Amino acid sequence: MQPMTLSAVADAVGGRLADADPQATVTAPAVFDSRVATPGSLFVALTGEQADGHEYAKAAIANGAAAALVARPVGVPAIVVPDVLAALGRLGLHLVQHALTGTQIVAITGSAGKTSTKDLIAQVLPAIGPTVATPGSYNNEIGLPVTITMADPSTRFLVLEMGARGIGHIRQLTRIAPPQISVVTNVGTAHVGEFGGRDNIAQAKGEIVEALPADGLAVLNADDPLVRAMAHRTHAPVVTYGLDAQATIHATEVSLNGRGQATYTLHTPEGSAPVALQYVGQPQVYNSLAAAAVAREAGLPLPQIADALSHATPRSPWRMETTRRADGVTVINDAYNANPDSMRSSLDALAAMARGRDQRAIAVLGPMNELGNDARHAHEEVGRHAAGLGLDQLITVGGEAAGWMQTAAYDLGAPAVHLPDQDSALHLLRSTLRRGDVVLVKASRGAQLQQLAQALLEPD
Ligand code: ATP
Ligand code: MG
Repeated sequence: MQPMTLSAVADAVGGRLADADPQATVTAPAVFDSRVATPGSLFVALTGEQADGHEYAKAAIANGAAAALVARPVGVPAIVVPDVLAALGRLGLHLVQHALTGTQIVAITGSAGKTSTKDLIAQVLPAIGPTVATPGSYNNEIGLPVTITMADPSTRFLVLEMGARGIGHIRQLTRIAPPQISVVTNVGTAHVGEFGGRDNIAQAKGEIVEALPADGLAVLNADDPLVRAMAHRTHAPVVTYGLDAQATIHATEVSLNGRGQATYTLHTPEGSAPVALQYVGQPQVYNSLAAAAVAREAGLPLPQIADALSHATPRSPWRMETTRRADGVTVINDAYNANPDSMRSSLDALAAMARGRDQRAIAVLGPMNELGNDARHAHEEVGRHAAGLGLDQLITVGGEAAGWMQTAAYDLGAPAVHLPDQDSALHLLRSTLRRGDVVLVKASRGAQLQQLAQALLEPD
């Protein structure tokens, strides 16, 4: 973070100092976990349902934090504000307006693929200049300003993932960090129950392009009608991407190699180049096309874009994380999350990895959450999709919803079994897996199926 005295921080957030030296400086990013506080950091005392950050302020100062941002004095150097979260947002905006004036903000939203797209962009833009990106999926009103404090005036690009919980949420995030380039990956069925329909999701996500200045850029998925329609919601120029040959940036000759990684030919108005991704699954073609559009806008020549995309590696765990065991069994841990779209594409990648070899494709699927009234139909669709791929084995794990997938697949003649819990699934897999098998493990986060995926990588 650009060094700031405590008195300057207090001014920026509208707070007052308590037990603090006004000339002491914050030199390191904001943290809200006292255990990761570093010398010069600003400890943010958030109050959640489980814990009250104020109780950890002392520990943070002991770890070197310059001060705490608090709602009440706690006997350590502090900036006292009425609302800690709002003050953190104000600090973010202050830094953007005063310290990061030479920094371009790239914002990414969508139902699926935000983190993958963010990770790809963050691995391409460093070819132009210093880049700071959201760590993990740190995409809400806490993670966003914290990420801003990780940048300094030398930062050329700030790449921010923005999650939408409802109408108005992204607008709020873009007020803290006004984007110059906004990317929308898709409007899928994720969180559709929570939002009450896809049109509402589109309404909420589109706020990211409404926030653009007239000289900004909207990067929109041409193959998703609800995303393409967002072109009407901004004064900024629009670049589209997708498989649609009309898209500004598009891909042809897409195929998945034996490791499930996508290769394709990248087409831009400047020419074409081959790309071979290290990422697994067809959706990553879209994410990388979005990254190409951003890099092109930033001025990176096509050969370097194709090269950087081909060298980018997955950064975030539990998303199609592929490990080959010593005994030749491949485990794909995709337990980070699941919705009907991502279930289908992950199953397709699994089928591609086992295709044409003497390998068995085995899918271990748990329930998809937050589908509202669509839940039963959506699970049955996934079951039928799995059956259509001719997988060697489908194992569904968990409660009723997982069972719907099994029944639908079984009814089409697929070898499908339903098991009540992860232990039974582990037991079955341990006794049946053999050399060459490829096992996909996927469910919504709540199912915690990464435990099963991890157990499969441990010795029996
Ligand atoms: P979250 O909302 O949980 O932060 P996210 O939007 O950041 O999710 P990722 O973490 O990039 O999404 O990807 C999660 C999963 O979604 C991947 O494992 C993959 O199965 C699927 N996925 C990734 N990109 C796309 C895409 N462009 N279209 C559809 N599905 C995708
Ligand atoms: Mg994410």
